[in-house]
Amino acid sequence: MQFRLTNTLTREKQTFTPIDPNNVGLYVCGVTPYDNSHIGHARAYVVFDVLYRLLRHIYGENHVTYVRNFTDIADEIIKRAAERNEEPTALAEHHIQSFYADMDALNVLRPNIEPRVSTHIGSMVEMTDELLAKGYAYVTPSGDVIYRTQKFPRFGQLARRKLDEQQHGSRVAEDTEKESPNDFVLWKANAKSATKMEQAFNPKDYGAQHFSAPGRPGWHIECSAMSRQHLGPTFDIHGGGEDLQFPHHCCEIAQSEALLPAGQPMANYWLHNGFITVGGTKMSKSLGNFTTIKDALQKYSPEAIRLWLLQTHYRKPVDYSDEALKAAQQRANRWQRISEEIMPDHLLNVPLPKEFIEALADDLNTSEAMAILESWPDKIGKVRMMQFLGLLVRAQSMEESPEEIQLLLDRKKARIEKNFPESDRLRDLLKEEHGIIVEDGPNGQTWRRA
Ligand SMILES: [Zn+2]
Repeated sequence: MQFRLTNTLTREKQTFTPIDPNNVGLYVCGVTPYDNSHIGHARAYVVFDVLYRLLRHIYGENHVTYVRNFTDIADEIIKRAAERNEEPTALAEHHIQSFYADMDALNVLRPNIEPRVSTHIGSMVEMTDELLAKGYAYVTPSGDVIYRTQKFPRFGQLARRKLDEQQHGSRVAEDTEKESPNDFVLWKANAKSATKMEQAFNPKDYGAQHFSAPGRPGWHIECSAMSRQHLGPTFDIHGGGEDLQFPHHCCEIAQSEALLPAGQPMANYWLHNGFITVGGTKMSKSLGNFTTIKDALQKYSPEAIRLWLLQTHYRKPVDYSDEALKAAQQRANRWQRISEEIMPDHLLNVPLPKEFIEALADDLNTSEAMAILESWPDKIGKVRMMQFLGLLVRAQSMEESPEEIQLLLDRKKARIEKNFPESDRLRDLLKEEHGIIVEDGPNGQTWRRA
């Protein structure tokens, strides 16, 4: 089978070859938890959830490491917390829990590692120090540490920008202490703080040799430091929304690759999903045209939202409208009725159709995969494909491990053979060790997560 992905680095569909098929690394930029997430966030995390499911299918469940961070220390959090007279950490924690509730509702699998800025200050200080030591950064009179983009001529290449055309990242304030307007902050000293609510860390406490002003990390450095710590200096796939290409991902590349031998990339494949638009305009917080995931879930089922997001190729824009969501809801309802006819038992060990996986392996062509599902002749096959796409949210979560599937099959067999002590033993084992509650009904054995 050919597995190909469109790599933003080359703007071409390339065969995907992992560095180590026994441990495929995927890093996706996470959220800044200062507010409820909107449908634009849902798109990115649903798209990369399908990629994660596909990688697990191809390389094996335990051979993929998915890392997604939380920017739990950030200007937006500090500002919002000051407005509400709250502690920034409490505000961030509240929105992290809100984000989890949204992701769980949308049946997005949890990544393997979810690093937070607050627990990774040491790795960021270390990387900032290395960049200073190699001349890729400088300390300003007020104590900030700034990346020297003029020393990295490829800056902006991922986003096909030439250095002199570049604008500032909107998340970096104008700063007259910079050598070049493209330079960006690695460490923000607290000296210029207006609110004094900033969470300040002392670089010396983390072993810094080349800078000393108490402060906190800039935004971009976290992904470079966290991906290096959890996936190594070069890993397989880095993903995120198209809007992160510049400046964020260009900054990540500048930071990480400045510390690598020439020609060694931070990530071999960069994947970007398209925007959610509203009447053709990008959905964003700043434009005020956004719908939160929670609002959308009030009106539409999670299956309908996932189905609507996945029926368009991930690189193309998806327009949000009630008409589009209503149409997706009708399709989801029709699929739901099919899935209700299938008992969970019927799906155990049902292989996925080859053409379905081939469609997904062709640059994550979910619309083609859904067309195959739609025209598939038998219902069990259809429901198996729905399950793979995470579209059986309410019916059966069906994220059982191979071991759990075997236990369920063994219990079913024991019941058929009327070996009740054994079937009771397996029922208790599934409940106590796996949190799966098994019940016997007129159509056989069913189960749910406790
Ligand atoms: Zn990032």
